[in-house]
Amino acid sequence: MGIKVTKFGGSSLADANQIRKVQNILASDPTRRYMVPSAPGKRFKDDDKITDLLYKCHDIATTGKKIDSVFEQIRTRYLQIAEQLGVTLDVSAELDTIYERISAGEKKDYAASRGEYLNGKIIASALGWDFVDAAEVIRFNQKGIFDAELTNQLMADELAKHEYAIIPGFYGSRPDGTIKTFSRGGSDITGSIVARAVGAELYENWTDVSGFMVVDPRIVDDPKTIHTITYRELRELSYMGATVLHEDAIFPVSSCGIPINIRNTNIPEAEGTMIVSKVKESRNLSNVTGIAGKKNFTVIHLEKDMMNVERGFGRKVLTVLEENNISFEHLPTGIDNMSLVVSDKELDGKADKVIADIKARVTPDIVELQTGMALIAVVGRAMVHSFGTAGKVFSALGDAGINVRMIDQGSSELNIIVGVDNDCFEKAINVIYNAFFN
Ligand code: ASP
Repeated sequence: MGIKVTKFGGSSLADANQIRKVQNILASDPTRRYMVPSAPGKRFKDDDKITDLLYKCHDIATTGKKIDSVFEQIRTRYLQIAEQLGVTLDVSAELDTIYERISAGEKKDYAASRGEYLNGKIIASALGWDFVDAAEVIRFNQKGIFDAELTNQLMADELAKHEYAIIPGFYGSRPDGTIKTFSRGGSDITGSIVARAVGAELYENWTDVSGFMVVDPRIVDDPKTIHTITYRELRELSYMGATVLHEDAIFPVSSCGIPINIRNTNIPEAEGTMIVSKVKESRNLSNVTGIAGKKNFTVIHLEKDMMNVERGFGRKVLTVLEENNISFEHLPTGIDNMSLVVSDKELDGKADKVIADIKARVTPDIVELQTGMALIAVVGRAMVHSFGTAGKVFSALGDAGINVRMIDQGSSELNIIVGVDNDCFEKAINVIYNAFFN
């Protein structure tokens, strides 16, 4: 029988009550053999995540002050969870060690990783499963770059010894034994690494939503859920701001075709969203899978007569960006003009220098900054085969009186990207959603 790897997010493990739901989910399917926990997350809107409190403790310790008042919140939460679950583990002793080491100046990543570490230990104790410390099986090199192959080997060898095990998310170690974490939300990556190492038939990622929505529910009321999405579509949508799964969590499983199922711990009967490598296309597919977007981009617009015959013009302009350590998002061009779309964050504090450098390098007739643009990506694998998708996007925007400032269709034909004024962002997303899904 195939193996399922599960990962539970912070809200699924925020207190004993949530952890009991997780216990039931695991107990209902014996093929769910390896589980990756996050640290306890928020129990209610203004609650603190344990990881945030641990970072706070580290910051306080570096100023030489006592961490007691913040650490007390961490202690209380874990002790309450452990007591309510009736675990036999000596949680106080574990907390004392963490307290001592953070107070003694342990590094930031060590502090942050203890959220997952201790949660993993408590859950392992509650379930009677083995605990496998991620520091032993997830490896980074000394520079902090993740070592996928060594990790895969160590993880596979170790998990072969355990029928049921908990592997805490978010961290691993360097060759010298120091702890290194992934970026925030990185337990998703750990789950994916475990799934690859054990050759899982499915990686279940349990969270507090019933899958991916077609569009951000903060922008569109009660949007539809995506039933099936490909890794590539998901990558396009995550890049454009759709969150739920860590961006890097796709790679370990996509390379070996293990599907990811996003599920809701609070509504376990909901099917959630399946993320797969390929989908058998059916005739009646809606040709759009999802819509996502981000605000705050600037267009660096250049014009120069006869630009099209000047060899190396584009390269020189891009070199200016590279030298200023700026990456660009899009590069729409005309015969005698060229636009570079750059996020405001990238350009922050560098705009004057970039303009001066471009003037010096390619002497354009015009170079100007057009600010306040939002980008919206309309993503769908079936777009390649269907007519009229772009037409529908632009009619919807035109009918709503929204001016399109930029258009870019990726050569993969997986997406259509439009630029609109920041002010029109929400309205534009709503009208595009309605055009395809209502
Ligand atoms: N606890 C970590 C965070 O809050 C990692 C995770 O939950 O995936 O970012």
